Amino acid sequence: MITQIDGVWLCTNCGAHWSAVLTDNEVPTHCPHCLETAVETLITKAQEHGEDSEPDMEVGDLQDILRRCWEIMSVGQRIKIYKIFKEELQ
Ligand SMILES: [Zn+2]
Repeated sequence: MITQIDGVWLCTNCGAHWSAVLTDNEVPTHCPHCLETAVETLITKAQEHGEDSEPDMEVGDLQDILRRCWEIMSVGQRIKIYKIFKEELQ
């Protein structure tokens, strides 16, 4: 979460900070540093869900994530991912 503390915009998750002179429109709504590793957070959450209940839950969560990603990907991105994993999964 990005919040303003003592005149500095600060990510309370990772500690990244931005100049206080940024206007409200320039302050990122999501921390770019945290977004770099957000996919690993989702994978870990799915893994923990599987450990807390049944292993199938981890697989189901990961399938849901992949399907949602697919929905918002461009045709070019879909083709690129399909080509990579079609060969890797054979
Ligand atoms: Zn952050």
